[in-house]
Amino acid sequence: MYKILGKTLLVAVLSVLASLAISFAFVPMLGGKVAGAGLVMTIACPIAISIPASFLHFWQAERLRLANTALAEARDELAAAYARLQHQARRDALTGVLNRAAFMTELEAHSRTGAHGALLFLDVDHFKSVNDRFGHAAGDEALSIIGALLSGLSGERDLVGRLGGEEFAVFLHEASVTRMLDHSQTIREAVEAIDLSTPAGIRIALGISIGAFHCAPRFDPAEALAASDRNLYRAKSSGRNTVVA
Ligand code: GH3
Ligand code: MG
Ligand code: MG
Repeated sequence: MYKILGKTLLVAVLSVLASLAISFAFVPMLGGKVAGAGLVMTIACPIAISIPASFLHFWQAERLRLANTALAEARDELAAAYARLQHQARRDALTGVLNRAAFMTELEAHSRTGAHGALLFLDVDHFKSVNDRFGHAAGDEALSIIGALLSGLSGERDLVGRLGGEEFAVFLHEASVTRMLDHSQTIREAVEAIDLSTPAGIRIALGISIGAFHCAPRFDPAEALAASDRNLYRAKSSGRNTVVA
């Protein structure tokens, strides 16, 4: 408010100076003299006109500035909320890894770039009995730990997704067959080593079966997933807690 009043006062002073300059320049030319009532009007008129006019102008300009600032803040908040929503829409809420739809979209994108890689289809062993014996909350905790473990082991360009229930998938970008096998074994051993216990101190043993499939450039994502699923089925049939490629 002080800023507005200050600017209004400045405009009033400038208006009076301009009015005086005009009067002293033109009135003598017309044969008159700037004095008395004429001088008072020369000073009073610009004050009477400029103060309300410039005050209104500066006040509205300030209101516009404040509204623009609020608008810019709201736009930034909206953009951040949109980014958060987009991130959430692609993630599985429990484990934080990609959800099935986002994983498949990313896998298709990898295939389109002509990248080769390794697709792992993972399924936690006897998970129903983990739930039955230790409760659903313990099962959720196990899934969350496995999700974090898979993310931690994967590289920046690899993909980790939860396909549903206790099934996960990993795509190792440009991985060789050797890396595919090594990584699968690392995951299997890490899941086996998860240190999860009930509040009563009973250890919840976990195991995971992995079906791996090496994908050539321009692979078909659905076919690659079906192939890794067939290998997963073999891993389950051959006793679980194992890798079949
Ligand atoms: P297998 O070794 O053959 O894979 O046996 P399994 O018991 O793991 O497989 P099954 O398909 O019989 O059971 C999967 C279980 O996973 C059943 C379901 O209750 C549980 N499950 C699925 N989603 C969730 C979840 O989000 N949280 C919890 N706690 N359990 C889940
Ligand atoms: Mg399953
Ligand atoms: Mg299972």
